[in-house]
Amino acid sequence: MRYDVAVVGSGFSAIAVTIHLLRMLPASASIAIVGDDPGFGRGTAYRTEFYIHRLNVAAGGMSVYPDAPDDFVEWLEQNGRQTSPDGFGTRGDYGLYLRDRLATLLRDRDRRAGVDFLRAKAASCVHCGEAGLVFHLDNGAKLSARNVVLCLGIGNADLPVERGKVDPSVERCIVRNPWRLNWLSKVGQGDKICILGSGLTMLDQVLALRVHGHRGPIRVLSRRGLLPHMHARAGERAPEVRPEFPPSREISALLAGFRRQVRAGADWRGLMDGLRPMTQRLWQELSKGQRARFLRHGLPWWNIHRHRIAPEVFSKVNSLRKDGVVTVHAGFLQAIGEGAHGASVTYIERRSRRHITFQTDWMVNCTGMERAGVAHSPLLRKMQRQGLITEDELGLGLSVDRNARVLDLNEVPRRGLYAVGALTAGQFWEITAVPDIRVQARAVAGDIASRMQ
Ligand SMILES: Cc1cc2nc3c(=O)[nH]c(=O)nc-3n(C[C@H](O)[C@H](O)[C@H](O)COP(=O)(O)OP(=O)(O)OC[C@H]3O[C@@H](n4cnc5c(N)ncnc54)[C@H](O)[C@@H]3O)c2cc1C
Repeated sequence: MRYDVAVVGSGFSAIAVTIHLLRMLPASASIAIVGDDPGFGRGTAYRTEFYIHRLNVAAGGMSVYPDAPDDFVEWLEQNGRQTSPDGFGTRGDYGLYLRDRLATLLRDRDRRAGVDFLRAKAASCVHCGEAGLVFHLDNGAKLSARNVVLCLGIGNADLPVERGKVDPSVERCIVRNPWRLNWLSKVGQGDKICILGSGLTMLDQVLALRVHGHRGPIRVLSRRGLLPHMHARAGERAPEVRPEFPPSREISALLAGFRRQVRAGADWRGLMDGLRPMTQRLWQELSKGQRARFLRHGLPWWNIHRHRIAPEVFSKVNSLRKDGVVTVHAGFLQAIGEGAHGASVTYIERRSRRHITFQTDWMVNCTGMERAGVAHSPLLRKMQRQGLITEDELGLGLSVDRNARVLDLNEVPRRGLYAVGALTAGQFWEITAVPDIRVQARAVAGDIASRMQ
């Protein structure tokens, strides 16, 4: 059988594309969903069952439907959860909401397209032509489809240290992928923990450790030691401020302009929110050199201002810092060797340039998601070797056009092949969170639907 559309992946991007396809395709159409995660749609972000793992976007921004922004808030109300559009629901609830919305569409059997869920991973692409694509799945089956939407996410980043600088005998103390939360059950109550990275992933792990009963010291090490800022509390949110752009697109000029606005009284959060709808266009106007400079110098600052955290999370972590349970250090990891009990970690302190060595029982890699082109995915690596896809010029993900169509070696869109989510960051930059992915998912579904007419 040849499907009209295959959606490859099982996170938010995949469920959002599926939901929009179900609303747009005729009942005669067929969709295959290929993913190995039993909790389809939840992905890394929304499969957590910890109550304390909060959304980092207010409920009013989390509807899967861009044209019905209150949909998630209404779901929360209907399900007896207390929150306002300004409040921050739990990520577990968000996963339930997505599955609920999909289930509602699936129940309408007579009017919707047919859907098959294939529990597998796409292993390789064996044909890519005018009539569609054929994939080998890791369960031995073949899948043929006229249109394919790659929703593979981006992998977990590697440890920021050369492989040779990690003593193989301490691998047992290293948690390379903290999203596999089963590592928590191995941690002793008083164990010393070192978390690499000081962003959202670190905060998640600190909170999960506390819920698991961990009471030992947690040392956080990152290059700059910067932590995400807090969202305004519900009811205290400032209105969006329209950014004023100087004639120059140099990052330094843009930043100087924003600083001027804040000095003149603009609320910085309002300014970041006002910038958001324009970020993709702004990114697309930058030259390759300007984008590279932004990634080199601006990224850590962008991350902490743009990817903010719920006030509840902020105050919990703040009190752990005040109590000395969590300490934050700025420096560069140099080596992980064998220690008296666990591992011995050496880093260069940012300010003093001194080498510092300490002992830890666990080393947890929370340096975030890998923005490393296609390297994280065996499927994409193979497709790249076949010349079916290319990396974008900065190696953030796949080369795609403004309609999220995957480009071939000659920068020509491949018929029927799309990518959705952070994989398309080279073209869109601001495409890692729900408010942006849902718009892209709807546009891709619309493109497919109009081509099928
Ligand atoms: C912890 C965390 C919290 C977040 N919180 C928020 C938030 O509060 N608000 C917000 O807007 N955004 C949040 N985000 C951003 C988040 O990344 C997006 O909202 C969204 O979850 C990304 O989904 P995705 O489907 O693109 O990627 P992923 O969730 O990574 O899903 C990709 C899926 O593809 C599957 N896959 C990979 N390769 C194959 C293959 N070859 N074949 C089949 N399947 C494959 C993987 O197994 C995985 O299930 C958060 C992210 C994280 C990590």
